[in-house]
Amino acid sequence: MRQSFFCKKINMKCTLCGREKFNIVKKRIRDSHVHSVVTCKKCGLVQLSPRPSLKKEQEFYDKNLQSKNILSPTDIKTITLNSLHDTNRRADFVGKHCNKKSHILDIGSGDGLFLKEMEGRGYNITGLEVSKERRETSKKVAKAKVLDINLLKDQPPADFKKFDGVTLIHVLEHIIDPVLFLQNIAKNFLKKDGSIIIEVPNLDDLLVVENKQYDAFYWQRGHVFYFNKKTLTQVVKKGGFLIKSFEYVQRYGLENFMHWQVKGKPQIDKPTFQIEGEYKWLEDYYKSYLCKIGKSDTMIIVIKP
Ligand SMILES: [Zn+2]
Repeated sequence: MRQSFFCKKINMKCTLCGREKFNIVKKRIRDSHVHSVVTCKKCGLVQLSPRPSLKKEQEFYDKNLQSKNILSPTDIKTITLNSLHDTNRRADFVGKHCNKKSHILDIGSGDGLFLKEMEGRGYNITGLEVSKERRETSKKVAKAKVLDINLLKDQPPADFKKFDGVTLIHVLEHIIDPVLFLQNIAKNFLKKDGSIIIEVPNLDDLLVVENKQYDAFYWQRGHVFYFNKKTLTQVVKKGGFLIKSFEYVQRYGLENFMHWQVKGKPQIDKPTFQIEGEYKWLEDYYKSYLCKIGKSDTMIIVIKP
């Protein structure tokens, strides 16, 4: 009897390779006691177990439980300040891949901060957000229209105009079927010569490996998949996509790293994650080094059908 307690049966198929055998990575995660994290024995894709249903996911996001469960700030002023650097970096990146005449769809547009920034820069952008609570916030933040379409089950309207570019910023790791999701984007939302820009967390993040407290904090109910370069590449290839570019990005700075090392918690009291001024070289070195060795916290891949 004791053994069955420890060997929880995993009744699921790997999204990537279809195999049903997994090793446990994390028995417990920080915001759910019914979920664990496992890795596929064949392809190495790291995934949440059990995988949530579409219905469960809708409830989870309608109530904005992802942010609430992990105690992320939910007031828009704090979120705006905390994400200022990221929002600008992303807008710069998208600007390199899409010209101002292109029509962009930001899937998982959340509170609308990226929509607002892109509008300010003169882009034609539309949002798509499944969370009711976040669509309401977005209306107050940006002018952009925000669609309410679930890409795993809904079809766009018949007269729907396709987009030149689609952005998925910290979205793919939340999707219960990422391959089908990307294929549906290509089929229904993207022009034939369009690109999809995907930003996701990097599982090979040095802090996850090196810092015990961060490791306990890292795994969360909202993330159905945890990708590294190898598994992210496999997922987009399985979807039938070509890779235009791949790069590592380090979002969080040295101060955040020191907080974890010294205090065992993130730096949330001070919204700027960057060291500026005389010590900027240190920050730049830290970030570029992590990117060079592939152990940054973030990855960006640009793909086309
Ligand atoms: Zn697999």
